Amino acid sequence: MTDDMPRDIDCGAALDRLYEYIDRELTPARSEEVRAHLEKCAPCLALSKFEDSYVRFLEARTRVQHAPDGLKKRILQRLLFEAGEHQAP
Ligand SMILES: [Zn+2]
Repeated sequence: MTDDMPRDIDCGAALDRLYEYIDRELTPARSEEVRAHLEKCAPCLALSKFEDSYVRFLEARTRVQHAPDGLKKRILQRLLFEAGEHQAP
C-alpha cells in the first residue's frame, strides 16, 4: 500500500497545505493534489496568490524572526479584504 497517489482534495485540505505548498515542503504527490485543486477552484487559486505574496513579504521582512501571530492575522485579513473589495481608493 502506498500513500503516493494524488487524490482529489477539498478546499479545506487544500488551504490546510497552502503554506507548505508555497514553501515546497510537500511530497510530490501531496503538492500535486494542491496544484490540481487550485487549477479547478478559482477561490482557492485567488487565495493562494495572496498567500504567496504574503509569504514572500514576510520572508523579505523577517528572514530570521517569526512574525507574531497577531501580525500574521492582520496581514492576512488585509489581503483577504483587498481580494474581496476591488474598490478604487
Ligand atoms: Zn477550493
